[in-house]
Amino acid sequence: MAGIAAPGVSQSFDVTNPRTGEVLYEIVEPAPDDLGKACSTAQTAFETLRAMSIAQRLREVGKLKGYIQRHKENIVQRIVEETGKPRIEAFMTEIFPTLDLIQYYEKNAVKFLRDQSQPTPLVLMGKKSKIYYEPLGPVLIISPWNYPFNLSMTPIITAIIAGNSVLFKPSEHTPLQGLIEEIMGGAGFPADFIQVIYGGKETGKQLIGLQPAKIFFTGSEGAGKAIMAQAAQYLTPVELELGGKDPMVVFDDVSLDRAVQGALWGGITNAGQTCTSVERVLVQEGIAEAFTKQLTAAMEKLRTRSGREDCAQDKSLDVGCMTASFQIAKVEAQLADAVAKGAVVHCGGARTDDSNAFPPTLVSNIDPSMDIYGEETFGPVLTVMPFKDEAEAIRLANDCRYGLSASVWSADGERANRVARAIVTGNVSINNVLATQGNSALPFGGTKSSGMGRYKGPQGLYSFSNVKSILIDKNSPKKEPIWYPYSEEKYSLLSKLIDASVQGGIGGLIKTALIGMKLDKFTKN
Ligand code: NAD
Repeated sequence: MAGIAAPGVSQSFDVTNPRTGEVLYEIVEPAPDDLGKACSTAQTAFETLRAMSIAQRLREVGKLKGYIQRHKENIVQRIVEETGKPRIEAFMTEIFPTLDLIQYYEKNAVKFLRDQSQPTPLVLMGKKSKIYYEPLGPVLIISPWNYPFNLSMTPIITAIIAGNSVLFKPSEHTPLQGLIEEIMGGAGFPADFIQVIYGGKETGKQLIGLQPAKIFFTGSEGAGKAIMAQAAQYLTPVELELGGKDPMVVFDDVSLDRAVQGALWGGITNAGQTCTSVERVLVQEGIAEAFTKQLTAAMEKLRTRSGREDCAQDKSLDVGCMTASFQIAKVEAQLADAVAKGAVVHCGGARTDDSNAFPPTLVSNIDPSMDIYGEETFGPVLTVMPFKDEAEAIRLANDCRYGLSASVWSADGERANRVARAIVTGNVSINNVLATQGNSALPFGGTKSSGMGRYKGPQGLYSFSNVKSILIDKNSPKKEPIWYPYSEEKYSLLSKLIDASVQGGIGGLIKTALIGMKLDKFTKN
């Protein structure tokens, strides 16, 4: 079973085209019975997946890759219709990373998930140590509205390769209703592996109450806290991929043109509705004025069109409209607060009509009393602040409760690396923006209020695994020297054993072996 939306129960949500305001369709929250059924189907599917080899799971996932590639234009059309993003962004930030991740795991997952031998210390002589990576069970994946395809498919695919079945709840704002079911059906992928459940946060809460083996959540800080609190009742493990307020640190030795273009794209792509959007540009004093001027001019040149025009087919549109009107209201409130407290708006700043198109906006003269200083904006708005030296740049970059991602720009590679280490985030790009997430081999995740856990790379698979330690000993009539009974003599020998093993080197090795021989008499029954 896949794609539950039982009629006549609970709340319903209109899914709209943000460019036109047209209601595309409605989703209805499912009845509790349907959730229970989805859960038991997921449990049965888990038994199937658990029994499959990693290579077999990869073959199934490979079918999805083929289908997505062949139908990419149709998938892009669905994404554009519900999010309002430009086609090229749907291609490069939704379709491509999904295909790339599958390819990366096709090459590496068997190696990452195979049983691994580990060293065994001398005191455990004769034994073998291993790690087994085992699936967890049916896992719950809850997704946000900003990248409805990529941020759903990435954890779904990873969970399945690691052997888990998936209960998936997309955002009620951009659910892409029926798309994953269509991809599974068209690809010949087992439909029971992914149960798609449509609904809002009440449905999410009910699903958590069904106690999945793990919750992988991408979304806002507030929802992340609520989910963690609910999951704590059952000790369900959670992975939280939350918001950000990413700094971009620009030193005065950079190529100004590239840094300006980097800030432009990093702050405005997806209309700024990216968790790793550049929101705080920190520029060294000597170039701050020139940087601000150049960035303002570049922002004014972007092709943005009114949100009321039909630009879904326009392949050279630069900036799409914002997806949700409630998000526009948040952006407008932050700007109003900043301006009232003395901020300067260099371009943009307000909508020119009542559509969801929000113009690229640059703000300076900001201070910590303003919401825009430390709260996530999640719109096409950048702030620019000057800094004096390296120490001040690091202080400002870290002066934020979020710690998702950052970028550091300098011709001095050592300095850039030093600053990258000093910034408290999960990811840093050097002389580039939003670049770490372009590599499927690099784990992605946050620190501080940006969440916990990592996905992608080897860690992504381990996040969806029970990492089981195994120690193998021989069947033998002997017992271990540490086992009962205890004695003065045993105490003294074990004390010497500790000293010898801490000593290390060849001397320590010989002493350990000699003490081991003396301890042998305690192994007899
Ligand atoms: P949101 O938190 O409002 O909703 C996300 C999802 O959680 C939705 O599916 C929603 O229905 C569900 N949900 C909300 N409250 C819930 C609850 N109490 N229990 C169960 N489910 C619940 O977030 P959003 O507005 O869709 O997304 C925007 C936020 O996501 C931004 O803060 C952005 O930075 C963040 N984000 C983070 C990443 C990342 O990888 N770190 C990526 C994209 C977006």
